[in-house]
Amino acid sequence: MQAHDGMYIDGEWRPAAGPEKIEVRNPADGTVIATVPAGGEQDVAAAVRAARAAFPGWAATPPAERAARLGALRDALEARRDEIAETVTAELGSPLAFSHAVHASVPIAVCASYAKLAADYPFEEEVGNSRVFHEPVGVVGAITPWNYPLHQIVAKVAPALAAGCTVVLKPAEDTPLVAQLFAEAVHEAGLPAGVFNLVTGVGTVAGQALAVQDGVDLVSFTGSTAVGRQIGAAAGAAVKRFALELGGKSANVILPGANLTKAVKVGVANVMSNSGQTCSAWTRMLVHADHYDEAVQLAAASVAKYVPGDPKDEGTRIGPVVNAKQRERVTGYISQGVKDGATLVAGGPDAPEGHEQGCYVQPTVFAGVTPEMTIAQEEIFGPVLSILKYEDVEDAVRIANGTVYGLAGAVWSEDEEEAVAFARRLDTGQVDINGGRFNPLAPFGGYKQSGIGRELGRHGLGEYLQTKSLQF
Ligand code: NAD
Repeated sequence: MQAHDGMYIDGEWRPAAGPEKIEVRNPADGTVIATVPAGGEQDVAAAVRAARAAFPGWAATPPAERAARLGALRDALEARRDEIAETVTAELGSPLAFSHAVHASVPIAVCASYAKLAADYPFEEEVGNSRVFHEPVGVVGAITPWNYPLHQIVAKVAPALAAGCTVVLKPAEDTPLVAQLFAEAVHEAGLPAGVFNLVTGVGTVAGQALAVQDGVDLVSFTGSTAVGRQIGAAAGAAVKRFALELGGKSANVILPGANLTKAVKVGVANVMSNSGQTCSAWTRMLVHADHYDEAVQLAAASVAKYVPGDPKDEGTRIGPVVNAKQRERVTGYISQGVKDGATLVAGGPDAPEGHEQGCYVQPTVFAGVTPEMTIAQEEIFGPVLSILKYEDVEDAVRIANGTVYGLAGAVWSEDEEEAVAFARRLDTGQVDINGGRFNPLAPFGGYKQSGIGRELGRHGLGEYLQTKSLQF
C-alpha cells in the first residue's frame, strides 16, 4: 500500500528527524504491506510548535467557518470511503463488509455531527450578571489505538477542531495508514497549516513524548488501562487536562421474559464483530438460572456461523486479530479459562483449522463461568464470550457491577420500563436497551476504571472547552 515517508506537520509532509521505521503488517497473512517513519521527540516537538503557532488563529476563527472546514473534511472522507475500508481491512484485518459499515461510515457520521455542532454550539451564554465564554483549551495531544482506528481519531480531532483547539495526533503503531489517509483528507479540506499535525511512531517513544510535552494543554488518550494510568499521572503532575477512554468488561443482562433467541444472537454478534476488539463489547452474558442451558445452546448455534476467513472476502464475518502479540494474549486467556474450570462450548486456544499462518483465534464461548474467574474480570479483547448464571435480579446487579470497569452494557426485557430501571442500577456509561442502536451523538465514556471524560456529541465537544466568566 502507498504510505508517506514523512510526518504531516504545519500543512506539509516532512521527513522524520531519525531513520527509524515501523513495518505495517497484514494480520491475515503476516506480510509487510508498508513502512512508515517512527517519529521521536524532535518530530513531536516540531508538531507541537506548529500546533501552538496555529492555535490563536484557529481559536479566533468564527465557529461558522470552523464548521465549514469540518463539513469539507467530512466530504473529503466520504469521497474516500472505499479506500478507508480497504486500508482498515489491510492493516487491522477486519472483514471488508464491517470496514465499510463501521470503520468508514461511523467516522464520516461523527465528522458530520461536529460540522453541525460547531455551528450550533452555544459558545457564549448569559448567567445572571455574567457573560460566560466557552473557550478552546489550546493544543491537544491525541493518542489513539488500533481497534477502531479512524473512528477513534475522528472522535478526538473533530470535536477538538470544532472547539477551536489545534491537534497533534499519535496513532497506534499497527494502524498508521488510515491515519495518513486522514491527514490527506484534512489537507484536501483546506484546514489552515498547523491546525492538525500527525506524528507516527512507537507509543513508548513518540506517544510518551507527546504526553509530557510542555506545549500540550490537554492529552486525550484511548487504549489500555496501564498506559492510561501513566498518562493521567504525568498530566496530573503537570496540572494539565486529560481524558482517558480505557477498557471494559461489559455485561449483557438478559432478564427473565426477554426474547432469549434475539438477545443471545445479538449478544454473540456484539462480541464477535471486529474479532472482539471492541472496548464496549458485551463480553459477559448474564442469564437467569431457569434459561441458562437454553441460552448456552443458542450461543453455541450462533457462534458456529462465525467461520474465520480472509477479511478481503465479502462473505467473511470474522477475520484475524490485529497482531501476533494480541493473538497470544487472547489464547492465553482462553487457556486460563479452561484451567479455572469454565466449560468450552465453542472454540478453544488452538488456531482455527486452515488458519495456522495469520493472527487468527477461534470464536470462543465459555459456559459455567463464575464471577471471580479471570475471564469474567479482565478485558480479553478477542472473540471470547463468557456466559454467567444469576439467581435473581439482585444477583444480576451484583455480578454486572462486580468488575473494575464500567464502560457499556445491555439489558433485555419484555417490559422496557423494567429494563430502564435495571439499567439505572448499572455502574456504567452506556446501556443499550433491547438491542438499541449506536447513537453518534450520545456521550460515550466510562464509569470507574473505564475512563475519565466523554466523547461524541456535545458532551464530547465540551471536553475541549474551558470557561471564562465576565461580570457586569
Ligand atoms: P496501548 O495502550 O499500549 O496503546 C494505545 C496507544 O497508546 C497507541 O497509540 C500506543 O502507541 C500508545 N502508547 C503505548 N504506550 C505509551 C506510552 N507509554 N505513552 C504514551 N502512549 C503510549 O494498547 P495496546 O498495546 O495496543 O493494546 C493492549 C490492550 O489494551 C488490549 O489488549 C486491550 O485490552 C486494551 N485496548 C483498549 C482499547 C480501548 O478502546 N479501550 C483500545 C486498544 C487497546
